[in-house]
Amino acid sequence: MSKIEIKRTLPAHLPPQTRRHDFNEVVCGYTVEEAVAEAGRCLQCKKPLCITGCPVKINIKEFINFIAQKDYKSAYKTITDANLFPSITGRVCPQEKQCEAACVLGNKREPVSIGHLERFVGDMARREAWHEIHGRQTLPKKAAVVGSGPAGLACAYDLAKAGLTVIVYEALHLPGGVLTYGIPQFRLPKEIVDSEIENLTRLGVEIKTNSVIGRIHTIEELMTRFDVVFIGTGAGYPMGLAVKGDALNGVMSANEFLTRVNLMHGYDFPRYGTPVGIGKNVAVIGCGNTAIDAARTAMRLRPDNVYIVYRKRLEDSPARKEELRHAQEEGVQFVCRTETKEILSDAEGWVSGMDCLRSDEGSSASFLLEVDTVIYALGTLANPIISRTTPKLKIDKGGYIYTDKDTLMTSIPGIFAGGDNTKTQGTFTTVIHAMSTGRRAARGMLEYLNFSIEE
Ligand code: FAD
Ligand code: SF4
Repeated sequence: MSKIEIKRTLPAHLPPQTRRHDFNEVVCGYTVEEAVAEAGRCLQCKKPLCITGCPVKINIKEFINFIAQKDYKSAYKTITDANLFPSITGRVCPQEKQCEAACVLGNKREPVSIGHLERFVGDMARREAWHEIHGRQTLPKKAAVVGSGPAGLACAYDLAKAGLTVIVYEALHLPGGVLTYGIPQFRLPKEIVDSEIENLTRLGVEIKTNSVIGRIHTIEELMTRFDVVFIGTGAGYPMGLAVKGDALNGVMSANEFLTRVNLMHGYDFPRYGTPVGIGKNVAVIGCGNTAIDAARTAMRLRPDNVYIVYRKRLEDSPARKEELRHAQEEGVQFVCRTETKEILSDAEGWVSGMDCLRSDEGSSASFLLEVDTVIYALGTLANPIISRTTPKLKIDKGGYIYTDKDTLMTSIPGIFAGGDNTKTQGTFTTVIHAMSTGRRAARGMLEYLNFSIEE
C-alpha cells in the first residue's frame, strides 16, 4: 500500500475579516489537483463502511476511485444514481456524523473528505452542463407531490425517472424548501439550488409555485385527479419563545428572519426594496444549526454586536463544530449558561433589552443584555395546515403525519409522506435524510401502483 497522507486536503476558505460582511460562499471548492490528491487517500476498502453511513447509499468507493483516475463524468454518473443533488449535499450534509464518521481511515488518520469530493464532482457537472438523464419510459399514471423541499424533490425525481407524470405543488414563490429559504447563501448559494432543481424539470417534472395545498385544493381533492400523492411539507412551524415581551417589535423567529433575508433578498437593499429591519445589537436565542445560521446572517447585515444566548454550555450545542468555529471567527459572541427571563420594551413597544439569568456551578446572577433585536431559534414543528384540512389523515404525537415505516403510506391509501413532517427518519432532520425518505416513499408509491422502481 502506498503511503496515505495523515491530513486530509482542506479547500480554501474566505478569511473571516472579509466574509463576515458579505454573503459570498465561505468554503471554496477543491481544485482538480486537490480533488485528485484527496481521492488518492481513499483505501478502496473491500467492505466500504462509508456507504453504510450515507442515508442514500451512494457508491462512495466507486465515485472516489473514478476521481482518482480523473474520470469525473463516471464519478458523476455513480453519484447521481443515488443522489440528484451532489452540489447541495456535498456542501450541507453533516458528513462528520454520516459517511465520513464511518470511514476507516478516521480511526488513525483523518477520514477522506467525502463531502468536498462529492461537491467537486457536482460543481464540475454544473459548470460543464452534464445532465444525467436516465432513459425514460412513460407510464399512464399521475403523481402529485406537495412541498418542494428535499423530500418532495427526491420523491418527484424517482417517480419521474420511473415514467410517471409528476406535478409538484409549492406554497412559496420559489421551490427548494429550506434549501432556498433557510440555509444561507454563504453556505449554499441559491444558484446551485436553482441549477440542481433544473435537472429535475429537465426530466419533465412540473413545479407549480404559490400553491398552498389545504387552501387551493385539499389533499383529498388531489386524489381525485392523481393516482398517488406525496406530502413533504416539512416542519416550518417555529416553537414560540414563551417569555414576557415575546410579541414586541423587534422579536422574530429565525425562520422568519432567514426567509426574509434569503427569499426576499433582504440582504441586497436597496437593489431589492425589502430591507430586513435589524438593529445595532442582536441576540439570537438558541444554539442549534438554525441559530448559528441566523447569527452569521445577522452579522452580515453589519450590526455592532451579535450574541448567541444559550442555556447550556457551548460544548453541549448540537450545531456542527465547523459552523460554531466559523461563527466565532466571524465575531459572533456566545453568552452561554444563560436563560432569557424577559424581553424588555421601550416606550414605543420596541425591544430595549433582555433580562437574563446566568447560572454557573452553584451560583446564578441576573444581568441586562442591551439588545434591540431578538431572534429565537428553539426548534420547529410540522406545519398543521395539511392535518387540519385532511381529517382522515392519522397524525402522530407532536402533529407529525403517521406513515407505515416500510412503504411510508399514510393512513389514507395512495397518500404517502416523508421528510421533516413525519418521524420516519427518526430524529434525523437533515437534507439527505429527507431525500432518503422521499426516495423510499417513491418506491412505496410505485409498488402501490404495481410498478417497480429503477435502481
Ligand atoms: P422542507 O425543506 O421544509 O420543505 C417543505 C416545503 O413544503 C417548503 O418549501 C414549504 O414551503 C412547502 N409547504 C409547506 N406546506 C405546504 C402546503 N400546504 N402546500 C404546498 N407546499 C407546502 N440539514 C442539513 O442536512 N444540513 C444543513 O446544513 C442544514 N441546515 C439547516 C438550516 C436551517 C436554517 C434549517 C431550518 C434547517 C437546516 N437543515 C439542514 C435541515 C434540513 O434543511 C431539513 O431537514 C430538510 O430541508 C427537510 O426537508 P423537507 O423536504 O422535509 O422539508
Ligand atoms: Fe456523505 Fe451526504 Fe454524500 Fe451521502 S450524500 S456520501 S452522507 S455527503
